[in-house]
Amino acid sequence: MFVDKVRIYVRAGSGGNGAVAFHREKYVAAGGPDGGDGGNGGSIVLRVDDNLSTLMDFRYKRKYTAPNGEDGRGKRCRGKNGEDLVIRVPRGTVVRDAETNAVIQDMSGDGDYVLCRGGRGGWGNQHFATPTRQVPRFAKAGLPGEEHEVVLELKLLADVGLVGFPNVGKSTLLSVTSNAHPKIANYHFTTLYPNLGVIYVDEGVSFVMADIPGIIEGAADGVGLGHDFLRHIDRCRLLVHIVDVSGSEDRDPVADFEAIHEELRRYSPELAARPMLVAANKADLLPPESGNLARLRDYVTQRGYPFFVISAATTQGTRELMRAVADRLAHLPPVTVYEREYVKPLPEAGDAQELQIEHDEDLWIVSGSWLQRLLADINLEDYESRMYFDRQLRKSGLFDRLEAMGIEDGDTVSIYDLEFEYTR
Ligand code: GDP
Ligand code: MG
Repeated sequence: MFVDKVRIYVRAGSGGNGAVAFHREKYVAAGGPDGGDGGNGGSIVLRVDDNLSTLMDFRYKRKYTAPNGEDGRGKRCRGKNGEDLVIRVPRGTVVRDAETNAVIQDMSGDGDYVLCRGGRGGWGNQHFATPTRQVPRFAKAGLPGEEHEVVLELKLLADVGLVGFPNVGKSTLLSVTSNAHPKIANYHFTTLYPNLGVIYVDEGVSFVMADIPGIIEGAADGVGLGHDFLRHIDRCRLLVHIVDVSGSEDRDPVADFEAIHEELRRYSPELAARPMLVAANKADLLPPESGNLARLRDYVTQRGYPFFVISAATTQGTRELMRAVADRLAHLPPVTVYEREYVKPLPEAGDAQELQIEHDEDLWIVSGSWLQRLLADINLEDYESRMYFDRQLRKSGLFDRLEAMGIEDGDTVSIYDLEFEYTR
C-alpha cells in the first residue's frame, strides 16, 4: 500500500540533572563542590533519504522520542548528551502542525531540520561555589525537551504531472519517454502509487515527470483513488492532460476532458488554472472515419491549450511533445517549495506562588514546572526573547514575591541554567 500521509508524535530528550557532590580525597577534610552538569537531551532531526519513496515506515511506528541527557556526577563529570534521533523521510515530505495544519518545514532541500530541540542539562553544584558560599547543597534540574504532534505529507517533486482518466496511457507515455518503469496494463487503476521519471530532452535539458493514479469523476469528493493522489501534482509547474481519442472504450474524449478538468477545479481552482498541454493518445487505434480527434482539437484549442496528437505505444509524436514540454518549462517558475507558516505559540508564565524559592545568603534559587517549560522555550541568546522572558517573570509576580522575602539589589537570581543580578 502506498502511504503518503501520516500523523506522528515526536519528543526530544530532557536535559540531565546537575549533581550535588563534594570533592573527597584521603587526608583532605572537606573538599569543594564538584558536582557536574547534566547532559543535553537529544533532539529530533529530520533528514531527506532518497532511497525512500513513501511514508510507509510511519504506519507502524507513530511515536518517536530522543534519549534524555544523563545526570551529572561527582568529580565534575558532565552527564553524557542524549543522541539526536534522526528520522528519515522521502524528499518532498511537508511537515505540518497537526492542530493548525500550518506548514512547519518542507523537506525538499538537502539540509537536516531540527524539529524538536533537546532540553539543556542542569547545572551541578560546582557552579555555585563562591568564596563566601563554600558548601552549596543544590544543583539544577535539566530542562524538558520540545514535543510536537505533526502530520507528514508527501508531495512529490515533479516539474510535470500527467493527468487523465485511468487507462488512457499515462504510464505508457512515462515509460517510453523516461528512465521509469511504471506498471502498464489494460486495466483501470494499475497505477496504485505515483511514478517519477526523468526525461532527457537534450544535453543539459531534462525534467521530472510524475504519473499519478488516474483521476476519476468524483475524485475530489473522495470517491475512488484519485483524490488522495491529487496532492502529488500540487507542486507541478505544468500539467499534461492525456485523453484517449481511439474510442476503444466507447468514451467521448470531449466529455472526458471536461470531467477531468472539473475534478481539478473542484480540488483546487489554482491547480485547474495551472499551465497545461493536452495530448490526444492512442492515435494508432483511431478509425479513419472517427470525428473524435477533430472535435477534441477544436474544443481544446478554443480554450487556448496547445494540442498534440501522439501514440505512446508506437512513440509517434512523443518526442515532439516532450520537446514542447521542455520549451514551456523553460519559461515557468521553479517547482513550488512551501514556506513556513507555523509560528510556535509563545510560552506563558504561571503564578509565582507555585514556584519554589530557596535562599542561601545572596543567592535565590527559583524552580517550578511552568518555569521549566518557559525557559526551555526561550532562546537566551536572542535579546527579544530574553526581554519577553523578563516580562513574563514580572507578570507572574515573582519579583514581588522575592521583594517580600527580602531580596536586595545585587543579589543573584538563579533559574535553571540562567543567572542574573537582581536590580529593582
Ligand atoms: P494509464 O492507466 O493511463 O497509466 O494507462 P496505461 O499506460 O497503463 O495504458 C493502458 C492500456 O492502454 C495498456 O494496455 C497500454 O498498452 C495501452 N496503451 C497506452 N497507450 C497506447 C497507445 O498509444 N496505443 C495503443 N494501441 N495502446 C495504448
Ligand atoms: Mg498508469
